[in-house]
Amino acid sequence: MNMKHPLRLLLVEATNHAAQPLLEVLQQLGYDVFLECIHTIAAFESALQQKSWDIIVANTELSDFDIPTALISRHRLGPEIPFFAICSASHESFGVQAMEQGAQDYIVKNHWQRLGPAIERELKIVELRRQHLRAQETVSHQSQYDLLTDLPNRQLFKDCLVLALAYAQRHRHMAAVLFVDLDRFKTIIDTLGHMVGDQVLRSVSDRLRSSLSTEFPLARLGGDEFVVLLPQIERADQAVKMVQKIVEALKAPFHLNGHELHITASIGVSLYPYDGEDADTLLKNADTALYRAKEQGRNTYQLYTPAMNARSFERLAMENSLRKAIERNEFLLHYQPQVDLKSGKIISVEALVRWQHPDLGIVYPSEFIHLAEETGLIVPLGEWVLRAAAQQAKAWQSDGLPPMAVAVNLSARQFRQQDLVESIARVLRETELDPQYLDLEITESIAMENADYSVVILKELKARGVTIAVDDFGTGYSSLSYLRRFPITSLKIDQSFVRDLQADPNDAAIADAIIALAHSLKLIVLAEGVETDAQLRFLKQHGCDRAQGFLFSRALPADDLPAYIKSLQPLAV
Ligand code: C2E
Ligand code: CA
Ligand code: CA
Repeated sequence: MNMKHPLRLLLVEATNHAAQPLLEVLQQLGYDVFLECIHTIAAFESALQQKSWDIIVANTELSDFDIPTALISRHRLGPEIPFFAICSASHESFGVQAMEQGAQDYIVKNHWQRLGPAIERELKIVELRRQHLRAQETVSHQSQYDLLTDLPNRQLFKDCLVLALAYAQRHRHMAAVLFVDLDRFKTIIDTLGHMVGDQVLRSVSDRLRSSLSTEFPLARLGGDEFVVLLPQIERADQAVKMVQKIVEALKAPFHLNGHELHITASIGVSLYPYDGEDADTLLKNADTALYRAKEQGRNTYQLYTPAMNARSFERLAMENSLRKAIERNEFLLHYQPQVDLKSGKIISVEALVRWQHPDLGIVYPSEFIHLAEETGLIVPLGEWVLRAAAQQAKAWQSDGLPPMAVAVNLSARQFRQQDLVESIARVLRETELDPQYLDLEITESIAMENADYSVVILKELKARGVTIAVDDFGTGYSSLSYLRRFPITSLKIDQSFVRDLQADPNDAAIADAIIALAHSLKLIVLAEGVETDAQLRFLKQHGCDRAQGFLFSRALPADDLPAYIKSLQPLAV
């Protein structure tokens, strides 16, 4: 043993002098001994009460020190401390007796060589016992706390909530449950990975923890869901104040792994006793309110109202039938012409999906794309759209129609899908459509959401020979430098600016600016939602290249398109 090990030794011996041989042996063994020598039961007990000891060594042959009494005291005051008895060779029976009464071991005087291993063994046992105890404590901690954030978990929160409700009922006050869900957390995981996702969750819980006072229990329910309890409030607006506090806490950007992330949350609130009298109901209704907040466009909160439950049933029913719709092939595509304003010819069509619902008839995408996106059903649906559109474009070409590109909308989720490029390449291969006739539309906000990632994906797509349009342009916040780096072909001016071209000079100015911007970036610019001659005239005058809208045609079933094209007089555009 090279290193000195501290050893706090409580020694029962007649005099310090008598302790000397033992002390020397221990020092030789490498122990740095702190020793207290006592010889009465009273001193023994007070030493146990006042200090911590690693071992006890007691001479069994002191006339007025009773070993059985000492062992009982040890059991009471320091049960984990190993107790060694010392006896002379002629009285080995004293040592054996001490062991029968609870000592760990005995050592015959002057046979000190046994001492070292015995002490080590006993100290090891003590250490193991301690570890075991700690492990048990950790296990019970883990069953109540979330490993990642060290916040209470769902079970512990529910226990808290049950108690708080009992208290609230007795004292007739209100309580509130706030369900907090991070916005677009999936995007973070999909684009930056789970490691960053975990860091986000930890940072968010740190912020929440430090901004809420400890009187408000905060827990992580799983995923990116947190919950806060206001155990005692008088008015609903106290819950709203808390919502503001949470929003405030998340406001400053998070700097993680070299990324600057802006994180917002949606929050659903339920109030005791109005929105539920038990924990489960309050949690469920706060969750429902949260959903509603998400639907309202995120970064917002909602108080629960009973009408929401009806809505969530509707939603569930819709989700179920949407799932079946994919299996049953209830979707179809309509195609809306995109017209070249110089030649008046249709140069492309946009594929717009419709749902032929068995009971509801034709359902438009505004009713179900959002839900498909949220549930992930958009992935198989989007792939179906892509294939069907490519097949159709190919079929028209085979029928001898002038070649037209087909534009397909990509949703946010599709755009972030790992195998997007591969799945598009597969569709092109299988349908044998020349890639130059496939135009992919992604909205400005999707493209900008994680612009660096977009640059990479768009380049890969471009390399496959397809063209790319930025949809709904003007509604997001484009950075010009990114726009320049995106390998895109065209910009589509959002219909909201086209609608009021005549009435609103601001919209006219925006449309005009977008046209100029597109041209300076050498992009084609298309105006959506053109309904009137006056709009068309304005757009033409300002040099817009293409247009799409009811003025030309609504989206048509595939079979109607050839007739429409034939009927076109060289358009009076
Ligand atoms: P969008 O990509 O902006 O498509 C244009 C929408 O405007 C279409 O609505 C179209 O019918 C409508 N529209 C066209 N011309 C006019 C007009 O002159 N006036 C007015 N008021 N509206 C016009 P639709 O078909 O209901 O589609 C709505 C949105 O649903 C689309 O907006 C697109 O974001 C999404 N969507 C449609 N099909 C798909 C799809 O296959 N996949 C994905 N991910 N989204 C789709
Ligand atoms: Ca579109
Ligand atoms: Ca659009």
